[in-house]
Amino acid sequence: MSWQKRLEEDSKRYIWHPFTQMRDYQEMEPVIIERGEGSYLIDIYGTKYLDGVSSLWVNIHGHCRKEIDRAIVEQVSKISHSTLLGLSNPPAIQLAKKLVNITPQGLERVFYSDNGSTANEVALKMAFQYWQHKDVKGKTKFISFKNAYHGDTLGAVSVGGIDIFHQAFRPLLFDVFHAKAPYCYRCPQGLILPRCSLECLRDLEEILALHHQEVAALIIEPVVQGAAGMIIQPPGFLQGVRELCTRYGVLMIADEVAVGFGRTGKMFACEHEGVNPDLMALAKGVTGGYLPLAITLVTEEIYCAFLGEHHEFKTFFHGHTYTGNPLACAAALANLEVFESDKTLERLAPKIKLLTNRLERFNDLSTVGEVRQKGFMVGIELVADKATKTPFSPRDKIGIKVILEARKRGVIIRPLGDVIVIMPPLNIAEEELEELVEEIYHSIKITTEGAS
Ligand SMILES: *Cc1c(COP(=O)(O)O)cnc(C)c1O
Repeated sequence: MSWQKRLEEDSKRYIWHPFTQMRDYQEMEPVIIERGEGSYLIDIYGTKYLDGVSSLWVNIHGHCRKEIDRAIVEQVSKISHSTLLGLSNPPAIQLAKKLVNITPQGLERVFYSDNGSTANEVALKMAFQYWQHKDVKGKTKFISFKNAYHGDTLGAVSVGGIDIFHQAFRPLLFDVFHAKAPYCYRCPQGLILPRCSLECLRDLEEILALHHQEVAALIIEPVVQGAAGMIIQPPGFLQGVRELCTRYGVLMIADEVAVGFGRTGKMFACEHEGVNPDLMALAKGVTGGYLPLAITLVTEEIYCAFLGEHHEFKTFFHGHTYTGNPLACAAALANLEVFESDKTLERLAPKIKLLTNRLERFNDLSTVGEVRQKGFMVGIELVADKATKTPFSPRDKIGIKVILEARKRGVIIRPLGDVIVIMPPLNIAEEELEELVEEIYHSIKITTEGAS
């Protein structure tokens, strides 16, 4: 048996893949990625694929970026890990300072963890305990939005709103008010932008008016609900949420795990509406897609509420073993340096326009219900009937079929249900971007219309 076949068998034999129906996986030809080069993934046979979803929304400047590789190697030669419990390390300090400088105004303190779910858990626990330290009684609940995704740990699932992921765990979860979220293509109120004058905010306002005294914080994915299917909020929504939180004395947590680090065309999505949250969670893109690292940023006001005498136990009793890992922090610093040396955001703007342009023709396909784009985040919602917006049956596995067709054409993408996601590395070359979109167009056409 060839070494490739051995790996394929062992991948089926030993690994339980996340978010994967393993019975289906057993029947598929596994793709085993061995190397990366810029926007390409290369498998054990040497086949090259365009990385159309940035290795699940994390890669920014391409694979094997020399500057980031070098930063990690240099750090390895010094030390790979020491603890942040009582000790500190240079990359963690430098990164914290840098993040405070580039994130929205008011966020002054940096708490490290290692993935997006924990960054949100930390934010929820800090917000919860903040009110106890302030001696405000009864603020023990949270508000989140329908279709929200904040991660897979139980606290993050509690504030989640995607039924197929979260419903099974309801008995384990804490109480959350789920406010209606905008989904303009399928507006829950049956209204049309801009005549709707943001009716979707009304539901949140009603919850706040009735329950603000019970609510510690609201958590939101600013501008785009990613995992829900790249659902884009109408302009003014985020600012409206900020105003309501302020008016009703509820902390605002911005979960920028997916949208942060340039994804939407600005460094952070909150910048689109000049919004300053009280807490912010970051992960995915922070190390340029190299190592697990996550951050919860908070205001000075929140940080100071936890100060006290040792015996008062106002300490934030939370910390993960690899918190502030020097290798990951060194990678993150190098990632941010490349943003500057490459002028990543400046060079992204024309590529966003090119992408918009190339996406236009998707609307001609009989199964494309809506094409949604914010910066370098794209969702193409496939429907069985365009006029009635009727979804495909889950039995059709339409999203999976499209991505398998794309794979044959040298493109790696992932569906979110029936929404095809395009989310390439920010530094992808224009020709690569055009090829990526072209192959996805034909993949949808062949899979759903039967001809290219
Ligand atoms: C991916 C994601 C998370 C969870 O991050 P993990 O690193 O997978 O735990 C949380 N929030 C949002 C918005 C995400 O996209």
